[in-house]
Amino acid sequence: MRISLLGPPGAGKGTQAARAAARFGLAHLSTGAIFREEIGRGTPLGREIEGIVKAGLLVADETVDRVVFSRIDGPGGFVLDGYPRNIAQARSLDAFLADSVPIDGAVFLDVSEGEVLRRLGDRYTCPSCGPVRAPGGACPSCGRTLERRADDEPEVIRRRFQEYHRVTGPLLSYYGPRLARIDGDAGVEEVWSRLEQAVMPWA
Ligand code: AMP
Repeated sequence: MRISLLGPPGAGKGTQAARAAARFGLAHLSTGAIFREEIGRGTPLGREIEGIVKAGLLVADETVDRVVFSRIDGPGGFVLDGYPRNIAQARSLDAFLADSVPIDGAVFLDVSEGEVLRRLGDRYTCPSCGPVRAPGGACPSCGRTLERRADDEPEVIRRRFQEYHRVTGPLLSYYGPRLARIDGDAGVEEVWSRLEQAVMPWA
């Protein structure tokens, strides 16, 4: 199975993509996670994109395409998380896969702006325990000071959400019959059960 999860920041793409990867034995490719890791390690790519990612803007298409294609290895299944983000990237992906196994389809996790603000508002990271949902301040488990992703500040969230929808509309029609749309405002388990059903024909 080769699929892409589409959805605005906070739609739960990361969580649901990890589940789909485990359930169907797929490689999980998250462009956001790859970029954050490159930034954290201070690589040349990380330094090139740091300002853009922290401001919640989109990285240049050629850069994202290059990063994704270098990680698609052979005919194995994968779930893309955060890619493609616009029509140009979707076309490049189809062209890249033209000589191998094409993508089966895309799943759009449809979440409202209010739900995104509510979810990301309490998304923090503890330097020891990892991702934590808390009102901020100290980690409820170990007491260390919680950190927030720079692009999870409310103003940046709003900009990322609007930017997402500006470029996503055309992407939904681009996938046409290859698109499954899921109401993503529900809880993790409910969304997962809808997603599992939706992708079953591609398994
Ligand atoms: P995410 O974790 O998917 O919200 O991605 C975090 C950030 O990485 C985004 O706000 C963009 O700056 C960058 N990014 C991730 N995927 C893409 C993509 N497909 N195209 C352009 N920029 C991307």
